[in-house]
Amino acid sequence: MNQPTTTKQSVNKPAAKKQIRDYISYYHSEDFCKESTYTGADLGATCTGEGTNFLVWSPQAEEITLCLYPAAKDGHPSHIGEKRIPLEKYPHGIWSYRTKEMLHGTYYLYLVTIDGKTQETTDPYARACSANGALSMVVNLSLTNPAGWENDHGPELPSPTDAILYELHIRDLSMDPSSGIQNKGLFAGLTEQGTHNKDGFATGLSHIRELGVTHVHLLPCFDFSSVDENSPSFNWGYDPANYNIPEGSYSTDPDNGSVRILEMKKMIQALHGAGLGVIMDVVYNHTASGEDSHFNRLAPYYYYRMEQDGSFANGSACGNETASEHPMVRAFLVDSLAYWAKEYHIDGFRFDLMGLHDIDTMRAIRARLNEINPQLLMYGEGWTGGKSPLKEEMRATKSNISLIPGVAAFNDNLRDAIKGSVFDLREKGFVTGKKKLCEDIRFGICACCPHPQVDLANVRSANAFWAGEPTQCVNYVSAHDNLTLWDKLACSFSSGTKTLRIRMNKLAAAIYFTAQGIPFFQAGEEFLRSKPAEGGTGFDGNSYRSPDSVNSLKWKELTKNHDVYEYYRGLISLRRAHPAFRLRCKEDISTHLSFLADVPENTVGFLLSGHAGGDTLKEICVLFNPNRHSVQFYIPNGTWAVYADAELAGNEPFGEVKGETSVVPPVSCMILGR
Ligand code: CA
Repeated sequence: MNQPTTTKQSVNKPAAKKQIRDYISYYHSEDFCKESTYTGADLGATCTGEGTNFLVWSPQAEEITLCLYPAAKDGHPSHIGEKRIPLEKYPHGIWSYRTKEMLHGTYYLYLVTIDGKTQETTDPYARACSANGALSMVVNLSLTNPAGWENDHGPELPSPTDAILYELHIRDLSMDPSSGIQNKGLFAGLTEQGTHNKDGFATGLSHIRELGVTHVHLLPCFDFSSVDENSPSFNWGYDPANYNIPEGSYSTDPDNGSVRILEMKKMIQALHGAGLGVIMDVVYNHTASGEDSHFNRLAPYYYYRMEQDGSFANGSACGNETASEHPMVRAFLVDSLAYWAKEYHIDGFRFDLMGLHDIDTMRAIRARLNEINPQLLMYGEGWTGGKSPLKEEMRATKSNISLIPGVAAFNDNLRDAIKGSVFDLREKGFVTGKKKLCEDIRFGICACCPHPQVDLANVRSANAFWAGEPTQCVNYVSAHDNLTLWDKLACSFSSGTKTLRIRMNKLAAAIYFTAQGIPFFQAGEEFLRSKPAEGGTGFDGNSYRSPDSVNSLKWKELTKNHDVYEYYRGLISLRRAHPAFRLRCKEDISTHLSFLADVPENTVGFLLSGHAGGDTLKEICVLFNPNRHSVQFYIPNGTWAVYADAELAGNEPFGEVKGETSVVPPVSCMILGR
């Protein structure tokens, strides 16, 4: 997430600086910690066959009134039949109303009075809402399950390194007419089977299944604020509104809070049915608004990190940052993630700007999620978006990731080594002909774990083996942020022919699909996805609110670039068939992975030997030649089967190399096995 600051104009006058400082010192007092934090997991509105329980945490409130509305239209309440009920105060900052009535489908708001000022607010712990989150809604979750939900579960994943992650925006999949998908821009679009482009190539869910990835990683699909749910348009969705509610613009009826829950569950069920795991991109590091958020109206300045001068800290570069180290914020994150994992059967989470979360919070999340599903994946951006008051040593950054077992970070070192910096569009990388990057490539191939043949002094992009284990390293060359791989190749190698750039693209893919760690890629990379800038020249590297015409997947390109697609499919099947590429611990990497010595200048070659990871192949030999001329590698003498070269890749060998040398043509890889 690197969209620019989109801070909203505050409609609420912020409290005076002194008052903000008073709040903050109260939150840090012993009294507060002892008497005003709440450890129950039942905040929000809980509705079962036995009745409904409203529970709010607001330690400073003088009065809270619950407003109930029987109906809503376009997000707003119908006042006919409105009821107002004062909440009762309990210890630990809790306010509550309990009734035997089953209020499923009833909308609600709170009127909260703090320091004599009364404000209306939705419930940050709500599990359903009306369109645009204008009203919270009571939901009996047992009524929101699709048929067969009790038997729904994600794929088995013995090690995180077995995952192959496919990063997808729900709207992108279906919006282009070439998708052949009926439910455009909706959760339901991801449930359609057998869709194809006009040339008969599978699109949508069928395409993803055929490609062979293990998990679909969905860009934000919790409720975000930037899209009008009554008239949806494109947005990435990195501006959280309601953390425990699906986004309404992806549903067929945003006003009826049950519908989006059911439709998201149906989508998950369809993905699970296709053997695919579901990862949610979560953005707990900031909220769309700070001053005016529901959090801030119920507990002023508690949920956020504040600067000394009383302003919101802005380590997210989006106007505020949440304070994960505060007990109630930490509990919110832990409970919210546990809720998604249990109620929605989510298989993993990707943490936006994870460096803004503190290490203890990430550990607490891991521990809680282990109780639900130890195979659940956790990974994130190991950096912040700007300056944060959180101490460096407390941050869940890439350099601290080894302190958080079971959590992985994106490997920007390998990303930039393969294709050049994301910040300098023209900068070349290993595949585009930049020299002296071999050690960085080798560093990445070892998942940034220590290896006797990798000399940190020669690694340009890092000064430490930052990954504690290969399971903590996510390898990639494209994501929603920045240029697509194909556009980056166009910018940094504008003089090249399409044929040559395709070779570079294939070589890039071969590197990260054979590297140790967890491979990840942006949807469409497998058929040369491009995002040409709207109405201008160049490409759109920050398309967070660009139109569908820029963002959507153009499925007609799948026909044109079908050889690239087949190459990706081949690399994926090769990786999935061979555990040698998916080693689970750093010791296995230093034991079984060795780099070829005396390789030609500006090349990398390595062996995976000794049936690494229990592989059926005794030895695998991987050779990368980014040079514009052929090179000859010396390899262990014998007869080798060819699994990948410049043109083809797959799990079925298609050629043979005999002897102690292998010639690798310009800008290509060679993968051999025996
Ligand atoms: Ca929304």
